Amino acid sequence: MDITSFQDYFTLKQGSRSPFSPMLLFFRHRSVSDPVIGPFEESTLETLRRKFSGNIWVLPHLYDLPDFCEEFREIRDNGEPIVAFSWLPVRAAFARLRQRTGVTKLTCFDLAEIHNSAVSLESLSFPDSNDAEIFVEIRRSEKSLHKRWYPIIDEQVCQNCLECVNFCLFGVYTIQENQTPLVEQPDQCRDGCPACSRVCPAGAILFPEYDDPVISGRQKRTEIVEPATKDELDRLIDQVEGKR
Ligand code: SF4
Ligand code: SF4
Repeated sequence: MDITSFQDYFTLKQGSRSPFSPMLLFFRHRSVSDPVIGPFEESTLETLRRKFSGNIWVLPHLYDLPDFCEEFREIRDNGEPIVAFSWLPVRAAFARLRQRTGVTKLTCFDLAEIHNSAVSLESLSFPDSNDAEIFVEIRRSEKSLHKRWYPIIDEQVCQNCLECVNFCLFGVYTIQENQTPLVEQPDQCRDGCPACSRVCPAGAILFPEYDDPVISGRQKRTEIVEPATKDELDRLIDQVEGKR
């Protein structure tokens, strides 16, 4: 069963007989003290609490969470299905959560789109919350994390050409036994560099915080692949040679 609405999700989760486990994940923005972002998150949470039946787990920013952290382990152990709200584009959030937790019954929502009114929270369908078996609790995990920068591979569109592995000069990627690419050393990636996303013929490499919506994953790539720009390549080579 594909999850296309909260009602589908609710039906599936009820069937899993684990009503007390976290059902909805809410990954916060880094700027929780921002006078606009903070209140927006709290009002969104309040709406979710009012309209959604199930436990809500409030977590730090999805992109900054370490790859092997207790939060991902717990999400994996909790099982499926999962609904996740984060500040990442849906494609990037889906790929990251699936890669780190193994969860596949996953529905993601982009808080940036809700904040920009591109998606209305009120328009999302929520289940009736009158079931006595369903426990509603908000749990918060407060953690201070470093801002990170690294590529996320959308495995659903990757063609396994391994161009990215050959292109990156910093050992970010490796080839797995099954001849597919893996982001093995994400924190070796150069801050702000999106160069390998331009050499990927499939548009599978996402930098969710880059301002180009095609590279961030908010917009589908429709045109022919743009090669990495000369400036990006110069920058990479300079960094290898220690000039920057
Ligand atoms: S370049 Fe793109 S399509 Fe090719 S292996 Fe890397 S991520 Fe996959
Ligand atoms: S963005 Fe640059 S440094 Fe980062 S993985 Fe791609 S090529 Fe390597």
